[in-house]
Amino acid sequence: MADRYQQFTNSPVGKFVVGKLGLPSPTPLRRYQPGQPLLEGPALVGAAPGGRLEKTVTEQLRGAGVEIATSATAGSSYSALVFDATGISDPKQLRELHSFFQSTIKQVGTCGRVVVLGTPPEQAKSTRERVAQRGLEGFTRSVAKELRNGATAQLVYVAPGSEGATESTLRFVLSAKSAFVDGQVIRVGTAGAGGATGTTPADWDKPLDGKVALVTGASRGIGASIAEVLARDGAHVVAVDVPAQGADLSAVANAVGGSALQLDVTAEDTPAKLVEYFAERHDGLDIVVHNAGITRDKKLANMDSARWDSVISVNIDSQLAINDALLESSVLRDNARFIGVSSIAGIAGNLGQTNYGTSKAAVIGMVEGTAPAVAERGATFNAVAPGFIETRMTAAIPVTIREPARRLSTLAQGGLPVDVAETIAWYANPASAAVNGNVVRVCGQAMIGA
Ligand code: NAD
Repeated sequence: MADRYQQFTNSPVGKFVVGKLGLPSPTPLRRYQPGQPLLEGPALVGAAPGGRLEKTVTEQLRGAGVEIATSATAGSSYSALVFDATGISDPKQLRELHSFFQSTIKQVGTCGRVVVLGTPPEQAKSTRERVAQRGLEGFTRSVAKELRNGATAQLVYVAPGSEGATESTLRFVLSAKSAFVDGQVIRVGTAGAGGATGTTPADWDKPLDGKVALVTGASRGIGASIAEVLARDGAHVVAVDVPAQGADLSAVANAVGGSALQLDVTAEDTPAKLVEYFAERHDGLDIVVHNAGITRDKKLANMDSARWDSVISVNIDSQLAINDALLESSVLRDNARFIGVSSIAGIAGNLGQTNYGTSKAAVIGMVEGTAPAVAERGATFNAVAPGFIETRMTAAIPVTIREPARRLSTLAQGGLPVDVAETIAWYANPASAAVNGNVVRVCGQAMIGA
């Protein structure tokens, strides 16, 4: 469903009307195109005294072709502001944030990026340091709300010892791949297997070369986009969907040079069939994306048990059964990646969606419960929590709910399936081995939802 309001606001008449009436004016977001530079212009990098990340991050960014500025110049525009706040060990030192950002925030360019780097509060060495580091969340989320013109802000907590494991995350949050991710807190190196840095891809444009990926619900919508993006990054994608979606499924698989597998994820024999298929046809499996999901909305008082059961079955039960079968078999290759698809309805709840909200919160439980265990075998388990994404699912929402849902986010627009897919591709990257146990919202900092 086209966002006609956004089209209007970007026309000459629309710009005039929106300016006069003070209406939301969604900026067309910069999205990734192959060959595009990480940033269009320079990044200003700063640090509080004693920061442990500034040097490594500067090297990583220079290596990625980013022009670095170390002191602000009046009148310059920056594509990114990156601030290492790990040196802040007392709330009084939070003033360093004010000193760095107060004047430079106005210099962030269109679709620019703000990234604050911190120490996970629970790993602070003192209570005062913990308090100060926790404060970074409120700062970053508020900055995200103040930025304009499609710019975003994220906080990345990096565990001590994981300084070298940040590159895939920086490349994601700074690039156009994170267009609809805003106001998020990301953790690197916190969930088990401390110190895992992962493998730097030989080619950052094809990080998934040689990998085999399973994507469920891949015949359309977000799943089709995940298949495209993982294939673009070099993976062989096995696209799964129900037999009724067979024609669309084959079209997606053919378009990405992958394989189509018609399966209902809830069937009792599906987990065993998947294990057999990947062992025989692909000699293993690297990436598992549990994207298949359904809604059967009704207020709880009107919800029959069939609606409840079907949502729980597709959105969580089937995924646990598949995980168990894969983890018990020898089909998973080293450094495997499990990725769940939650929803902001699973974080904040949603009217008419007690079944769906339950299942999507349970997906977060699956991440929390499984991430530390899979870390022991070098694997990771993360999830995305999409907000309003332009798909058939959201096109079916009545217009009176759809319009505010689109507009009530910091970016004042819905996201695209590709925004969810890019976030999943970041988790899947072999260099993201220390990115484990995260649930990152892809919601443009939606105010509906959490
Ligand atoms: P969609 O309905 O367009 O696609 C879902 C796909 O899953 C369909 O192709 C469907 O056939 C498949 N599927 C359903 N049951 C299945 C089963 N038993 N076995 C195999 N495949 C099955 O939905 P979408 O909008 O692309 O959503 C994809 C995921 O993203 C879902 O998990 C959804 O809950 C989640 N999500 C979507 C949004 C949004 O705004 N669209 C927001 C939050 C979360």
